[in-house]
Amino acid sequence: MAGERRQAPFAVVVVAAGRGERLGGPLRKAWIDVGGRPLWWHAACPFRDLPGCTGAVLVLHPGDLEAVAAEPARTWMAEAGLGRAVPGGASRQASVLAGVRATDPGARDVLVHDAARPLVARQRIEALLAALEGREAAFLAHRVPATVQEVGETGEVVETLDRRWLRMAATPQGGRRRRLLKLLERADRERVAVTDEAALLAWGGLAPLAVDDDPRNLKVTTMEDLQMARSLLAPADLRVGQGYDIHRLEAGGPLRLGGLDVPGEVHASGHSDADCLLHALADALLGAAGLPDIGERFPDSDPAFAGADSARLLGEVLEDLAGRSLRPLQVDASVLLERPRLGDLKARMRARVAELLALPVERVSIKARSHEGLDAVGRGAAVAAHCTVLLAGPGPATA
Ligand code: MG
Repeated sequence: MAGERRQAPFAVVVVAAGRGERLGGPLRKAWIDVGGRPLWWHAACPFRDLPGCTGAVLVLHPGDLEAVAAEPARTWMAEAGLGRAVPGGASRQASVLAGVRATDPGARDVLVHDAARPLVARQRIEALLAALEGREAAFLAHRVPATVQEVGETGEVVETLDRRWLRMAATPQGGRRRRLLKLLERADRERVAVTDEAALLAWGGLAPLAVDDDPRNLKVTTMEDLQMARSLLAPADLRVGQGYDIHRLEAGGPLRLGGLDVPGEVHASGHSDADCLLHALADALLGAAGLPDIGERFPDSDPAFAGADSARLLGEVLEDLAGRSLRPLQVDASVLLERPRLGDLKARMRARVAELLALPVERVSIKARSHEGLDAVGRGAAVAAHCTVLLAGPGPATA
């Protein structure tokens, strides 16, 4: 069995430096949101924690390096088991060279995988690694399901090819790190362009072995592919949660709200930092997970939570959820507050909450409204928040 075999050390390179022009839009292909995570995250996750893996390198467009050094992408890197990010080159081949160079020299093999393939099955990666026990190079490939005709310039059949001997190369592809690196460097020097590593390894005389792949391992190239990938990666179950909190307001600012200090004349009173938006959010998350509410989880009677930063309490809740394979997908919140007016702070609060949840900012909404002079909130004596969250669990089928 594959699991009992002693795995030779191998490294992973996920290539995400392409422009993806065929998909249009301002975003680079590898950054397209699929279920709250970029495409590269989905491509990397199936390699995470595989026995023998010495580390995974993400190759990005140089313009994207800043983004992965900041949240939420830094968290996404860690979730996907990506140890470092390096800048790619002008071509795929140059990017692969940069990635392979950045891998652990102690790895015997390197697997190169396209970020545009978010659906590779872990079991197929294991089959590829098993093939590398007997060969120096191998790649995942699809058999050709229909007859292939070679045609001339005007479309007339020149030759009917025997599809038994045809394969469509997929990724991952790879082989011995030292051989692959030397070939990439030689191709670079000699200006030899190949379209993938299997072609390169074949050029180097290694006769890479085609290992049958699962047809689900599609390459996202067109909008239709993206729709297909999204439907295949759609979470198996969705959980919704709702939270509410209210705190008394007292004289003297600032007001802690949504993980920020809101300047003004008042602050909220309470046991922790009294951040009612983060409390409503934590309760919504706990509710969606079917866990006890924050009153039980972080009791007022416990001095450990006196003056506590609610962002830290939220972090604990998120860790609990992650341990249960539950991941926030979306948040919608309303803050009820008479004064101070949030104004520009609303956008900063939205960014802060997105950062705390490791979500793209587009998946977080924070609305603010006054209570028209009615009740305690309306009189300016209290601040309240409502929050609704959507969780995914137990995560993408391939992750
Ligand atoms: Mg509270």
